[in-house]
Amino acid sequence: MSMVLSNNTIGVYIHVPYCIRKCRYCDFVSFERPPEEGYFAELAEDIKAAENASVNGIEHYVDTLFFGGGTPSLASRAQLETVLGSVRGSFEMADGAEVSIEVNPETVTKQKAADLKELGFTRVSMGVQSFDDAVLKAIGRIHSAERARQAFKILRGAGFDNINLDLMFGLPRQSADGAPGVQDLGIWQETLDEAIDLGPEHISFYSLQLEEDTPLWAAYRNGAVRLPSWEENRAMYHHAVAKLREKGYNHYEVSNAAKPGFECRHNLRYWSMQPYLGFGISAHSFMPVFSEDGRFAGGYRGEADWSKADPFDGLQKESLTDLKGDFIFTQLRLIRGLDTGFYRQLFGTDLAEEFADPLEKLASEGFITVSDGRVVLTPYGLDNTNPVMQELLYALL
Ligand code: SF4
Repeated sequence: MSMVLSNNTIGVYIHVPYCIRKCRYCDFVSFERPPEEGYFAELAEDIKAAENASVNGIEHYVDTLFFGGGTPSLASRAQLETVLGSVRGSFEMADGAEVSIEVNPETVTKQKAADLKELGFTRVSMGVQSFDDAVLKAIGRIHSAERARQAFKILRGAGFDNINLDLMFGLPRQSADGAPGVQDLGIWQETLDEAIDLGPEHISFYSLQLEEDTPLWAAYRNGAVRLPSWEENRAMYHHAVAKLREKGYNHYEVSNAAKPGFECRHNLRYWSMQPYLGFGISAHSFMPVFSEDGRFAGGYRGEADWSKADPFDGLQKESLTDLKGDFIFTQLRLIRGLDTGFYRQLFGTDLAEEFADPLEKLASEGFITVSDGRVVLTPYGLDNTNPVMQELLYALL
């Protein structure tokens, strides 16, 4: 079945750029200071300004709302209330909307969990990364493994029945000390097992990306830190995929698995070309523009300036070629693969014909399979997404 692009629902992303202390691998926009009142007041104003300006004259229902960071759980109840009130006052909320917030275990108290529940959050995403204290210390996390365990229980106790745990692999200490090529998955296996034993509805498992100019990058460069090899990294990934599937999780995106029905609807928007509005520092929006026949005619992507009469004015305009590139880049991340029927619906052309040569080449090299209207990454393709994307995107030039 092809996907239907819903043009009257919208996602809203709120960026809360404050953290207690920077993690050693982090290059997200976040500041080591307490959340500032003025920032939340501005968010509320921007959201109000978006009410009229945003959305092509179509009435939109917010069906996913996501507070990300930074550490949104550092915000006070009143600060969160200000922003939530503004969203609810400016947009209709769809019935059963998914309302998510990212939390750091160190910030989770009984009171905080009760506040989040009362404020109407339906989903909590907790950054755990590892259940090994030495690993947590090596990557500069502020919490211990025990604190993460407690926080999970507190959230459950407060009634949250949709919890994600973020885990990371490819971290310092996850390979056997100093020995090259060792397939010592022990620490990662234990973290994964412990996460699964807690029984969250959703688990994200991302490989560490060593970002330039972070303390971890510097430590790696000067030899103070050793990271797992590519083979070790892939062994950790394959182990996670197999284990999560064995335990009843649906591996639905390269780095995400969920119990059936608990896939993150907000993130699925990003991977399915659905519109969303971003508020706060470095928060991006995506607004497709449709032609009269309901197909994509173009779009806007980037950091909107909500103080302007036309907030998208000055944003990068997306051509159809850009949008096709986005489509390939995002849809291929889904394990069910890229939907050619959806592509035809959006662009009015046949992807299999348009990309016949690269698709044939990639299939013959074992990166993808093409069948039943879907282009799907093979396990080999999942380990090598960059060459696949490059080959397909090159065909757009
Ligand atoms: S808590 Fe998240 S946003 Fe904050 S420093 Fe750590 S990784 Fe970065």
